[in-house]
Amino acid sequence: MESYIPVSYLNDFIFCPLSIYYHQLYGNLSTRLYQDLPQIEGKAAHETIDEKRYSSRKNVLQGTEIFSSKYNLCGKIDIFDIDSGILTERKKHIAKIYDGYIFQLYAHYYALIEMGYSVKQMRFYSRDDNRIYNVALPDEDSGMKEAFESVVNDINDFDLHRFTPANESKCQRCIYEPLCDRSLI
Ligand code: SF4
Repeated sequence: MESYIPVSYLNDFIFCPLSIYYHQLYGNLSTRLYQDLPQIEGKAAHETIDEKRYSSRKNVLQGTEIFSSKYNLCGKIDIFDIDSGILTERKKHIAKIYDGYIFQLYAHYYALIEMGYSVKQMRFYSRDDNRIYNVALPDEDSGMKEAFESVVNDINDFDLHRFTPANESKCQRCIYEPLCDRSLI
């Protein structure tokens, strides 16, 4: 694994560590080779942020690159309101809050803290149904904080050559399955 872990790896790693390898392998080719419609739509939901069109207010960080030296994580936040201390991650549609989603917010949180910002609240925003899901800060949920640190350590220690998948249902839902030589189906 590389020294700085992209925040987006956290969710992928929980699903299947091998999916990160395939993402790296095919990530620079046409994404339509392997992306399904929900992913493409989800990406579109982020384009407003990436192009910094969400807000021109100077006290709002949008699509800002972040880095946590403590956890060796790097990535981009969606929206951080400096005045209110509210960190928001927008997704096209949220049917369930997966641990990987929360860990991504944790990574953003720790990076912003290291940058000297005060993060007081974290939340997800589901655009399709206009719903907000608040997430406890890491220090308010010791179990999730430990789980987050465990995943980060697992990524750092991961050995691709020794990995054997064990969950057939994940392979059935995996977008890389047609490309994967270790698929269980
Ligand atoms: S097909 Fe299975 S083993 Fe291969 S990347 Fe997907 S989930 Fe992992």
